[in-house]
Amino acid sequence: MTSTSDPFAYDLDALRARVLPETGGEVDRSIPQLARADASLFAAALVSIDGAVGASVDSDVRVSIQSAVKPFLFALALQDTEGEALGRVGIEPTGEAFDAIKLESGTGRPPNPMVNAGALLTASLVDGADAAARSARILSGLSAFAGRALEVDADIAKNEHLLGDRNHALAHLMRAEDTLAVSADDAVAVYAQACATLVDARDLALMGATLAAGGRNPVTGVEVVSREVARDVISVMATCGVYDGSGRWMRQVGVPAKSGVSGVIVLAAPGRLGAAVISPPLDDQGTSVRGHIASELLSAELDLHSFRTNAR
Ligand code: GLN
Repeated sequence: MTSTSDPFAYDLDALRARVLPETGGEVDRSIPQLARADASLFAAALVSIDGAVGASVDSDVRVSIQSAVKPFLFALALQDTEGEALGRVGIEPTGEAFDAIKLESGTGRPPNPMVNAGALLTASLVDGADAAARSARILSGLSAFAGRALEVDADIAKNEHLLGDRNHALAHLMRAEDTLAVSADDAVAVYAQACATLVDARDLALMGATLAAGGRNPVTGVEVVSREVARDVISVMATCGVYDGSGRWMRQVGVPAKSGVSGVIVLAAPGRLGAAVISPPLDDQGTSVRGHIASELLSAELDLHSFRTNAR
């Protein structure tokens, strides 16, 4: 068993071997591509805020980013609107499923940027005159976070768009409340493309590390978003990132994170590192079962919990 507070002496293959025997959870079935996911996949990566990278076996296996894109859509919307996006979306946890057909009462705004309603909205706020231009801006922004040119899986994007009935319902509801400025179909199309962006564990860890480093990609040196944006995004990941499991996550893992139904989890420990784990079988809240266990082990063994202290 590994026990060290140096992330780059940390043995991610040993971590993988410890969590692989866990066979709980079910792969997502919302689209055929996710239903076909390899339930035995597990990959993990760490990137420090100085740009040092650690990665396990299979950390180059790509999956669709799914909801782990939401913090980055929020970041790009904040950056492109110079903070105006903050008035357009709530920041309170919902205690409900990620795709609940519900808006903030009184305002008609999405409850927060980490649930589907919020991400449909933030994706509509990035720069771009039409849906194609916004998708292009999102892909280049995500690529800047990941430090390389990412790609979208067109078949996944198409199915997310076609089969995402709850997302269409949410977009129409926001139109009815006058909180979504673009057409409902354009909003779903842009969000579906964003969810279909392919990443491996290393990409996702570097995306998390860019937030953890205050918005500057620690490998390429590119300033992707401002320090204030990075802080705002990590704050909302901490309170809302694991949906109705966010409280349990914060106590057990204590690192701001975002999960996605492909089994990805991105973690951002401010001033320390970014991390990613990928393993498709999910718990009832849509979070990777092995990913959750691995995150708890990583947090304990690398001393990452935000609220642990030695001072007493
Ligand atoms: N494709 C999914 C959706 O919007 C993403 C959901 C998720 O990863 N939680 O419905």
